Amino acid sequence: MTQSFDYINQIIIYATFAMSLNLVQGYTGQASIAQAAFGAVGGYTAALLSVHAGMTFVFATLIGMVVGFVLGVLVSLPALGVGADFVILLTLAFAYIVSSLLGSIHYFGGQSGIIDVKPVSLFGHAFRTPNEIFPVFLVIGLLVLGFCWRVGESGYGRVLKGLREDEPATRSLGLSTVRFQASVFGIASAIGALGGSLFVYYYSQAAPASFSLNQSILFVIMVVLGGSGNLIGSIVGAALITLSTPVLQDWVKVNPNNASFWQQVVYGALLILLMVFRPAGLIPEHVSGRPRWWQRLGSKNKAVAHSGRPHTADALAGGGSLSDAIAHGQVAPALDLGGTEVGTDEQVPALSSVMGGSGGGLSGLSGSGSAGTGGLGSLTTGEGEAFEDLDDPEAGAYHFTHQAPPPEAEAILTVTGLVKRFGGITAVAGVDMQVARNQVTALIGPNGAGKSTLFGLFTGFMPADEGSVVLNGEEVRGKSPNAIARLGMVRSFQDVRLFRYLTALQNVMIAVPDQPAEFVWKLFAAPGQVRRREREVRERALELLASVGMLDEANTLCGDLGHGEQKLVAIARVLATNAELLLLDEPTSGVEPEWVERVAAVIRELPNQGKTVCVVEHNLAFLQMLNANCYFMEAGRIRTKGTLDELMAEEDLRRAYFGV
Ligand code: ADP
Ligand code: MG
Repeated sequence: MTQSFDYINQIIIYATFAMSLNLVQGYTGQASIAQAAFGAVGGYTAALLSVHAGMTFVFATLIGMVVGFVLGVLVSLPALGVGADFVILLTLAFAYIVSSLLGSIHYFGGQSGIIDVKPVSLFGHAFRTPNEIFPVFLVIGLLVLGFCWRVGESGYGRVLKGLREDEPATRSLGLSTVRFQASVFGIASAIGALGGSLFVYYYSQAAPASFSLNQSILFVIMVVLGGSGNLIGSIVGAALITLSTPVLQDWVKVNPNNASFWQQVVYGALLILLMVFRPAGLIPEHVSGRPRWWQRLGSKNKAVAHSGRPHTADALAGGGSLSDAIAHGQVAPALDLGGTEVGTDEQVPALSSVMGGSGGGLSGLSGSGSAGTGGLGSLTTGEGEAFEDLDDPEAGAYHFTHQAPPPEAEAILTVTGLVKRFGGITAVAGVDMQVARNQVTALIGPNGAGKSTLFGLFTGFMPADEGSVVLNGEEVRGKSPNAIARLGMVRSFQDVRLFRYLTALQNVMIAVPDQPAEFVWKLFAAPGQVRRREREVRERALELLASVGMLDEANTLCGDLGHGEQKLVAIARVLATNAELLLLDEPTSGVEPEWVERVAAVIRELPNQGKTVCVVEHNLAFLQMLNANCYFMEAGRIRTKGTLDELMAEEDLRRAYFGV
């Protein structure tokens, strides 16, 4: 009996290490092999305070955790943004430093460590045997599980997963890598220190061998075995590894002298089997927020959507409030060209009326090659009346450019003399341009012209060699992407860069600013505020997904979406940032023609909501719908600017680019 409690207590101690490591390894995607070293930090701190200062279990452990937190943050700082392989080296170095200090400094007791640590005592009662101490450890273990769960499965954890999936994309949304990565390292290290303290109190001794590199690697195995990104998996992993000892010794009757050898063989074999048959671990990460009953509803929902009727309120995961929003016209409106008011200034109808299928639409657009580069079909109204071919500049009927932007409009972004060289290639060769506030600006030109590079320069993703980028009167050249995003300029990526193992909804939710759930202390200090805001954030994200036609896929992993669908989610994600200036890099490439229209409608409406848009596009039909100021870029330079009609009227552009 005592033996069973002994094993359970060991499992709890190891699960403490494994769960906390999972926050770093599974949630944030950073491989740390120093978890046992942080255990040593906590264990030795507690042992020294207990033996030399007579401090009680609770205080000695808490102080150990604080030391663990501080060291964890310090270790993480050099690792910021340098990739997971560097983090392995860094934590390896830390583990070596800790183990050599402990083994060699006299004060730490050398190889035998610090002995005679008094047993755990609470309220004057000492817990001496495994049976006695089990309830204490159980409570601590449950607290750790609850804490890690709250942290990992919150808005904070969502950002951690974002960093894991795509760090630059996370920064592009205004989120700072430093804050999240450093804090999660600190938290995981503090809990590791707690595990170390439990270990030391349990065995009444702090010795270097208990916190060796091997031990750290065992914790990594526990996490991988159980399932990265799943805390219950870490407990299962800890149990399997811990119980392998009695299984081998008592059941398989392995000679105790060979036990550790066979143990290593078993761990190795388990890992190989796992990689082959269950790469995500025994209990894989819980990736979709959609329970089974929702999936059934979801398929119904899809059928409704495809029949062109509005989404029913009860089919929504978050309750009926999105449809309320739709009914009140708060949802970003979509295009309705069913009537005769094409291109007038009348209020654009709310999403519901479009989804309600008031008929018409630019149905002709969906045909022909309109979504492809340069190809342009003939546009048709709902009544089936064909617009003239856009390629014919003499034709008048297609004009969407009814509200030519005032040329003197104030610039939100002013770029002067911008230069970017990649070795011998000058990708951007002295660009001057202005993006007018509350308007849509398009950047067009052949592939390789430097358009995407320009967006990268504007938003701090790559340093410019020369020139200046002034956003709202402030020089932003040299600032970080997240700082620039917070100043109000956010980009999307030509290659989409969604978080593949997050759902569409989570992708959009990450981008919404002002989330108390992204602060660990608020998760515990202000749970009500966190819950309320989380609901709002979810609603907002659902609205945005609806506005780009991706509501049905809200709970689908983005990695499972088609390219065009991903592009649509990416637009919703950028919109969610609340940035004033949105830079969209080929937002409709690969998108179904019917949604190209809706995206155009959403973007066209943005200036009325106080937003400014700059879009890189090849799809001329789409550009026509945007009524944009166009810059034509070629070989790293702005060659000319004007309305699309004006550019298309230029003979050599027409020949070279517009494909006449
Ligand atoms: P566009 O978006 O207009 O198609 P890009 O901005 O992607 O063009 O590329 C412009 C030029 O810069 C191309 O010649 C491309 O090969 C080069 N380029 C872009 N990014 C890099 C990079 N990271 N390293 C080297 N060359 C690059
Ligand atoms: Mg590009």
